[in-house]
Amino acid sequence: MSLSATSPAPLPEAGAQAQPPTPQQQDPSPAGNQRSGLDRRVRDVGPPDGIERRQGERRSLLAENRQINLAITLIQLGARLQVLEAETKLPYERLLKLYKEVAGKSPPKGQLPFSTDWFMAWQPNIHASLFYNYYEYLQKASDIDSMQAIIKAYQMYLRELQMAGVAPAMSITRAWRLVRFVDCGMLSSSTCTRCKGQFINHAFELPKHYVCGLCSPPARAGKARTPDAIH
Ligand SMILES: [Zn+2]
Repeated sequence: MSLSATSPAPLPEAGAQAQPPTPQQQDPSPAGNQRSGLDRRVRDVGPPDGIERRQGERRSLLAENRQINLAITLIQLGARLQVLEAETKLPYERLLKLYKEVAGKSPPKGQLPFSTDWFMAWQPNIHASLFYNYYEYLQKASDIDSMQAIIKAYQMYLRELQMAGVAPAMSITRAWRLVRFVDCGMLSSSTCTRCKGQFINHAFELPKHYVCGLCSPPARAGKARTPDAIH
C-alpha cells in the first residue's frame, strides 16, 4: 500500500469559505412579465374604471340628495304625496317614510283635485293668478326648472299674502296642479282689458273682452267676507 493512498484528501484552502448561494440576478421565470402585464392591465383598465365608478357614485349621491331636499321642501310647504311621487324619482316607501318624518303625520289619503273649476271661482282665481304671475316671471327671468319655479313662486305668494294679512287660499298642490293645467292647455293666463293684469282664465275663452275678478267682482263677493279674505 502506498502512503499516498492513505494521504488525507487535500483540505480546502484556508480562507476559502463556502459562498452563499448567489441570488439569481435575473428572474428567469415569466413572473416578471406577468407582473408587468398585470401592471399594464391595471394601468390601462383599472384607474379610469375606478374613477368613473367613483364619479358615478358621487353623481348619483348628489342626484339623490337633491331629490331628498326637493321632497323635504315640498312636504314642508304642505304638498300631497302624489306631488312628490310625480316630481321625484324616489321610491314610494322612501317618500312615505320621509313624509311621516318631516310632517310628523301620515299623508292624507284620496285623489288629488282634477277639476279646473276651483281656479275659476272668484276668490281662488285671484290667489291662483297672483301665484301664476310670480311663476311666469321666474320662468322668464331665470333658468331654474319648472318645479323650482313653482316652489319659489309659492313662497313669494305666501310672503305677499302674509304682508297683506290675507290667509292663503291655495295649497302648493293646487299651485302645482295649476301649472300643469296651463302646460297642457286647459287653463291659460289672460290679460284683463281694464286693469291689464294677468289672470288665470279658461284656455278656450276669447281674451278680447276679458275682465278680471278684481275689476268686476261678483255681487256676492263682499257679503260672505271673512276677516282674512280678499276684499
Ligand atoms: Zn282687471
